[in-house]
Amino acid sequence: MRRKFQISGIVQGVGFRPWVYQLAVRHGLGGCVFNSTLGVTIEVEGPEKALARFEAELRSETPPLAELGSIRVEDLPPAGYRDFTIHDSQDLGAPFVLVPPDIATCDDCLADLRDPANRRYRYPFTNCTNCGPRYTIIQEIPYDRPQTTMAEFRQCPACEREYHDPSNRRFHAQPNACPECGPWVELWDRERALALRADAIDRARQLLKEGAILAIKGLGGFHLACDASDDASLRHLRERKLRSAKPFALMAASLEKIAEFCDIAPEEHAALTGPRRPIVLLARSPGSRISTEVAPGVPMLGVMLPYTPLHHLLFEGGGFDALVMTSANISEEPIAYRNQEVAARLHPLADYFLLHNRTIYTRVDDSVVRVFAGRERLVRRARGYAPRPIELGFAVPEVLALGGELKNTFCLTKQHYAILSQHTGDLENLETLDFFEHTLAHMKRFFRVEPRAVAYDLHPQYMATRMALAMSGVEKIGVQHHHAHIAACMAENGLRERVIGVALDGTGYGTDGQIWGGEFLVCDYRSCERRFHFRYVPLPGGDAAIRQPWRSALSYLKDAELPGVPALDAVPEAQRRVVEAMLAGRVNTVDTSSCGRLFDAVSAMLGVCLETTYEGQAAIELEAAAAAGLFAPYPFSIEAGTVDFRETIRAIARDESSREIRSARFHNTVCAAIAEACRRMRESDGLADVCLSGGTFQNAYLLRNTAQALHAAGFRIFMHAAVPPNDGGISLGQAAIAASILR
Ligand SMILES: [Zn+2]
Ligand SMILES: [Zn+2]
Ligand SMILES: [Zn+2]
Repeated sequence: MRRKFQISGIVQGVGFRPWVYQLAVRHGLGGCVFNSTLGVTIEVEGPEKALARFEAELRSETPPLAELGSIRVEDLPPAGYRDFTIHDSQDLGAPFVLVPPDIATCDDCLADLRDPANRRYRYPFTNCTNCGPRYTIIQEIPYDRPQTTMAEFRQCPACEREYHDPSNRRFHAQPNACPECGPWVELWDRERALALRADAIDRARQLLKEGAILAIKGLGGFHLACDASDDASLRHLRERKLRSAKPFALMAASLEKIAEFCDIAPEEHAALTGPRRPIVLLARSPGSRISTEVAPGVPMLGVMLPYTPLHHLLFEGGGFDALVMTSANISEEPIAYRNQEVAARLHPLADYFLLHNRTIYTRVDDSVVRVFAGRERLVRRARGYAPRPIELGFAVPEVLALGGELKNTFCLTKQHYAILSQHTGDLENLETLDFFEHTLAHMKRFFRVEPRAVAYDLHPQYMATRMALAMSGVEKIGVQHHHAHIAACMAENGLRERVIGVALDGTGYGTDGQIWGGEFLVCDYRSCERRFHFRYVPLPGGDAAIRQPWRSALSYLKDAELPGVPALDAVPEAQRRVVEAMLAGRVNTVDTSSCGRLFDAVSAMLGVCLETTYEGQAAIELEAAAAAGLFAPYPFSIEAGTVDFRETIRAIARDESSREIRSARFHNTVCAAIAEACRRMRESDGLADVCLSGGTFQNAYLLRNTAQALHAAGFRIFMHAAVPPNDGGISLGQAAIAASILR
């Protein structure tokens, strides 16, 4: 008999056809497999028992990078197949395939790289169908070599043979290459090339050992690299990058090296070594050789393992345990990605440049994850994850959701998928905007999406909002910021009915024109009602208040009718006077229910952080200061829709315990307030499902204790994993809301 399978999902460019070929041959079946615009189609013919075994393995085993969506099975009369063959792609007229993300070097390729007898010995562009560049080099769909940036490299006869041999690991590996025919690396100083190919890598390694700062071209962009144990190099890097305290990411030589400076839980181990190779946020163990300059004031380190052959080669010989690997951008600009831009833009930053001639068509930053409650959860969604779609579980019209202003992503919907862009950055920056527009054009083309509607944030000053309002020929759907946060959490957890939404963050435009951020909602995709919110306080000086947490502290103290606290004496009196006058006269202030500003205020009151040099610093350092152990919450009240922390502020000011204990008690107060508000909403609305979203929930202390409190009170809790809880996730929520409204 003959059986036909039509499979959707991530099945192209992931070694799926050769895998099916080998499976069919193993079970002695005839037939064929081909890529189609629907995904992959398989026909197999043979005895019923063999077909059943084939189907069972097809459903259970799949190659590492493939993700099967739906499988449609059809029994057909025999067609007389004797052999099994791989056919050319077929155009079935409904052009939509999923574009695979970039994947870390696999173990087989690593073995090739390290084998002196192999023709790819120490070749930095080694890859196969199970690993290597994808999204970053694809220019057009279907994914075929002539439509990638590898088109300019003609395969040598040996590579050609592998490429056409279905039993070979490199069968139709589009970026297939070797030292004979593929790209190469060069090392430059600020004027000229110093070394080529293997020599270039050896010299680069030596220079890193000597304390130089190198710009290194990677998979989706450039990194600035230096030895992570070298204080002097790190100080240079901070000066040059204008980043006075923001933590740098590390790339470590091996898992064993990471274990020397961080604690690794089993799930973290899996995240570190998996094929996506994100930066994993790990608890730092004391007394390591890693310079304190890497992440000042933070007990965590962001660490990843090498994910390209070039990275593996840089660590050969054990010259250093870990390298700082930070995006080669100046402050918040997106990482530069074209070779010719590098020289001009990175000259002031790097001493040397390790470049290569495989073009990066689409820039993709490193992803960042943390493990919480046994699951990997994204903080920044980019390399390895984008543009992998999120299954919505229901059919949707085609919409575009433009996301927020900071940590932007956008989202396209098609069929039953939401396809998020990689992290694009902060749109207030012109270069990011340029990158955003390029990526949007690519993704619309790749996925053949023609949006009927555009969803956008209500903040009138956001770039993405202005862009949406300027579009013509599409329906426009404005979505309130915190509704979008909760809808994103619903979407990735497959929820469709009304939920309690707790959205805590720094800034989101409210329907009353104020800045919201401590929000308790009852919502589904179509409606959203605000049940409670943090008490409004005036925010003196807008953006300046975000950079200077002591301003928020003055505002909260005044609201609680307190004169001041000793920690604020560190701020020059003249400056304090100006802000006090602003607050008294309500000059240049805006009212806010922001949770972020409440954390800022307490951080400043405790003398933890009075001024910030990166977003979220005051809250991050306040969390870092919190003592472990059980500490009672401070008093607070909830009345007439308002969660009021004035009693909390007074209690903190009175409390003479250490800042560690006061920080812990403050965190527990917020947890207790969340639990109490949820209990009241359960009474009023009869709901027991709670979605937690917003950037504040990156605070693990808060998240853990909130989840515990809600669990104990009998709630079902949903949080983020596939998209970040911060504004990098809101495009998903906007898209789900807009798609529901249109349906
Ligand atoms: Zn491989
Ligand atoms: Zn070759
Ligand atoms: Zn937000």
